Parts: sequence; structure tokens; C-alpha cells
Amino acid sequence: MSWNLIKRSDQYKAQETILMRSTAGGDVRIALGYPNTYEVGMSNLGMQVVYSILNSIPGVVCERFFLPSEEDIELYKRNGRRLFTLESQRPVSEFQIVAFTIAFEPDFVNIAKIFDLAGLPFTAEERAQHENCPLILAGGAISLLNPEPVADFIDIFCLGEAEHFLPQFIDTYRQWQKEECSRGCLLERLASLRGAYIPSLWHDYYDDQGHFVCCEPREGAPENTIERLHLSASEYGEDCPHSQILTENTELGYSGLVEISRGCAFNCRFCTVGFSYPKIRWKPLDKILEAIEELGQYTNKVGLISATAGTYPHIDALCQYIIGKKMAVAFSSLRVDSLPDSMLQALVSGGSKTITLAPEVGSDALRKVANKRFTDAQYLATAERAFAAGVVNLRMYSMVGLPGEREEHLQALIDLAADTRKLQIKMGRGGGHITLSTGQLIPKPFTPFQWNSVLEKGKAAKSIHYLERGVKRIGGVEFSGESPKQAMIQALLARGDRRFSKVIARVYREPSFSAWLKACAEEGIDYKYELYRERSVKDEVLPWSHLTPVGSLERLRRDEELTRRTVESL
Ligand code: SF4
Repeated sequence: MSWNLIKRSDQYKAQETILMRSTAGGDVRIALGYPNTYEVGMSNLGMQVVYSILNSIPGVVCERFFLPSEEDIELYKRNGRRLFTLESQRPVSEFQIVAFTIAFEPDFVNIAKIFDLAGLPFTAEERAQHENCPLILAGGAISLLNPEPVADFIDIFCLGEAEHFLPQFIDTYRQWQKEECSRGCLLERLASLRGAYIPSLWHDYYDDQGHFVCCEPREGAPENTIERLHLSASEYGEDCPHSQILTENTELGYSGLVEISRGCAFNCRFCTVGFSYPKIRWKPLDKILEAIEELGQYTNKVGLISATAGTYPHIDALCQYIIGKKMAVAFSSLRVDSLPDSMLQALVSGGSKTITLAPEVGSDALRKVANKRFTDAQYLATAERAFAAGVVNLRMYSMVGLPGEREEHLQALIDLAADTRKLQIKMGRGGGHITLSTGQLIPKPFTPFQWNSVLEKGKAAKSIHYLERGVKRIGGVEFSGESPKQAMIQALLARGDRRFSKVIARVYREPSFSAWLKACAEEGIDYKYELYRERSVKDEVLPWSHLTPVGSLERLRRDEELTRRTVESL
């Protein structure tokens, strides 16, 4: 019964505390979607920030929608209902603009599911044939990387930070509405906005064997490469984005999220944060405290969003403030070599018993390949301080597939897990758990690893199995390994060209591993060629080469050269 869908949406709303002022009505109506469930989407501060920016623009009304659960997808289909927004329960397809915040590549497939449920044509080309089809806008963390695999689905990407882009986007849209010219004319105007990327103004080329050659502007498209938008340090420090809607139905429960920085001071070579954002920018302490003060009227749980909170210049004062307020705190990331005691105290005094540290690998030499400069000894010293502070359980995050990795490195990681367990017992926390959680390196666009091949599925499975067997022999340590098949699909989506929009459109209903491979073959994509091949650092054109990296390409090349030398010295 579609009544159940409405009831579910009412239940979600009933459990929300809304901090921002609501908008009465307007001439521009936007449906803002997160391509995952309500619980995942509402845990994303980026989505909440965009929601609040859009609703703060006079005359704009922004409502939310999410990917329904499998059970609700069935209900939508059975009742012939179209996906509707949470606030007014109006069909998404009736809004003028449908916007997406996309954070992770695996969510690409959910965009197709949403189009299907909303009754929206999948591609920009098809939508151009229908009058009154919403304009599809997308942004979010993924727009700092490679948006090409969903390029056919999206009319316009905002590449980079959206704060300045959104008001200009709305102005241009409004002006166009008044003049009533064509959709193509709107796209051409939007193309002149800084940070705008309009995939339909670009054409992708392939050779006779179906290998990607390049992506170039069509006639009328801007000649230059597309730049990413970033706020300067002073613009960034003007305010402090924080949750505007609190609900129990998130990954962190009824928590208020506060952003304390963007970017990262480190440049780990596998990580997009260090390379995709400009230099790290911090929020002023007084603005952060104001945000926590406001959230503290509604909740005693706060989540601080930063890649490296431990290097925040005022971290001790911030932690003391939180401890003084008797609030529980969570940090989005803890770095082994910058985890001050004040953060541990704040975590433990707020009731946290488990933390995650990322030694990444069990060898100092291999860690240098990733440009992680701390040692096993430093990792163990940090773990010891954590246990001494009252942490009981430790999750160790690690990866397989770094260039130069050999079996002895895997054994070293098992040994490090065993040493961590011994330390836990020595510190009187033997009743707790150690979990070694292992993922696979995905050589991401705009990092120095972007030219690398992906670890073959069989080899990845062997490494994961080796670790699992070794860890099983250590009492008190659990193992959790990423599926090599999932990693392979993620790598294809992270590094793919725009033919992957068609692949996604083929598989979204049943995205099994075999369905992905079949769809690749049907679209003429040789997945082995895409994954298991080193690219030429000197002259290979990559599917994302037409989008400008944040740093220079030369910097990425220099870092790639350093990686090679480090691997040779292993
Ligand atoms: S892995 Fe962490 S510390 Fe390293 S660059 Fe990424 S965010 Fe920064």
C-alpha cells in the first residue's frame, strides 16, 4: 500500500529536530537527493549544508529525497507511485531542478535506481527531448574526482565547493526562466559559471579497439579545461557549517555534526583528500564553539568532521570545552601520528570504548610507498596511550595492493595485529577486541597512483585469505576483509570513462558481479584492459584528464616518480 510509504516518510519527519528556519514558498523548487538510504544520507554533513544553503536563498524551496529501502522500492513499484520528496511528498519529477550530493562511487548505481523510481529519463540527451523535465545538478565529494561514469546522467556538475556556486546557479536559472529560451541555451549560460561542468558539451572518443582516446569540447563549449571551485582560507573561516536537522536515524544516532576543516595537511598517495583539496583550511575556534553551543541545546552528542582533527591548532581547547560540557564526541578520522591525549580523553569521557587507527600496513618501508611517515613503533605507542586512556576495543584499518607489496609485508601486518593484541592485554584491556579490517588499494584519479594498475582480483583474494588465516591463529583478533569483487567494481567506477553510464543503466536492477562484467562486454569495454594496465605517466590521456587537478599535473608526476624510487628501494 502506498499508505505505508507515506507513513514511513511521516515517521522520519516526526523524529527530526529542524534547526533552520523553514521557507514559505518560492519560484524555484529543488528536490535534493542523496543516492543512498535516509540513514546514510542524513549522516552526510555535505548534504545538510547544501540543503541549508539552497533554502536560505530567497524564493528557493528545497526538499529532500533518498533511495528507499528494498522493501519500499517494491512498494513504489507495486503501487505505480513515483518517488516523492520527504517534505511535501510531491513527485521528484515535478520539481524544476533535481540535485544530487554524491559522496562515493558505489552510489552511482543508485542514481539509476532513483531515476527509474522517479520516472525520469536517464540521460541528458533524452531529457532534452521532453519539455518540463527537471534539470539534473550534481556535486559532492565525487565531483572532486572523476564524475565521468555518470556523465550521461547529469546535466550539470558543480565541481568543487558549492558555497559560491549555488547562488550564481540559481540567478542564472531564474534569468533563463524569465526569458523562456531553450534548455540548450540554459546549459550554455550555466557553462560560463566557474566550477560548472556540462558533460553534454563534451564528446568522448575511442579507437577501433574500443579504448578511450580523449574527451574534447563540442562546438560552443568552453575551450579551456574545467576548474574546480574552492573557498579561500578567509572565505572558509567566515562560518561553521553544522547539522541543521537532527535525527536518531543516522549512523551516529542523534548527533550534531560540525565541520572543523577541509583538506588535509598530509599527502598520503592513495588518498584523494590530500590531493583533491587545496591546502588545509581550518574553522576559527570561536565559530566551532558557537556551533557546538547551538547543537548542545538539542543533543549531547557531537561529531567533528575533519581529515586530521589532531593537527587542529586549538584541538586541546576544543576537547576541554567538549569535556566541560559533558558531551559525547566522535571524530571522523583519527591519525596515528597526530592523536593528542586531549582527543583520547574527550572520546573516553564521552563514553567511547572503541577507536579506529590506520597503520595501513605492517612495514615501515612499505608505508613510505604510500607516503605515510609514521613507524610501527609510533603506531604501537599511540595504541598504548589509547588503552591507557580507557579505550577497550581497537579497529586496525589496513590495505593490500600497494606497489611493491610482498608476502613478507602481509606477514608483518599479521605480526602487528598480534603485537597490538599483546599490548591490549598488557594494558589490562584483554576483555576487548582487536579487529583487523582490510581493504584494497584503489588507484584513484588525481592521486600519484592514478597511472597504476589495480591489484588483480585473484591476487587480492590470495592476500586477503593469507591475512585471514594468519589472524585466525591469534586469539582475540578478528578479521574483516573487503570482497575483491566489490573492490574491482569500485575501481572500474572510480576510473571509468563515460561509457560506464550505459553499463550502470544495464545493471542497476540486479548489480551482481557477473552482471557488471556482462554489461561491460556489451558496451565494448575490456575490463582487464581498464584495470590491469599501467598507464604511461608521460602521455596517456585519462578519462578525467580534461578536468583540472587541484595541484599541477607535474606535482602528481613528481610524486609518482618518488613512489617508483621508494618501491625500488624495498
Ligand atoms: S589518508 Fe588521512 S592523513 Fe592521509 S592524506 Fe588522506 S585524509 Fe590526510
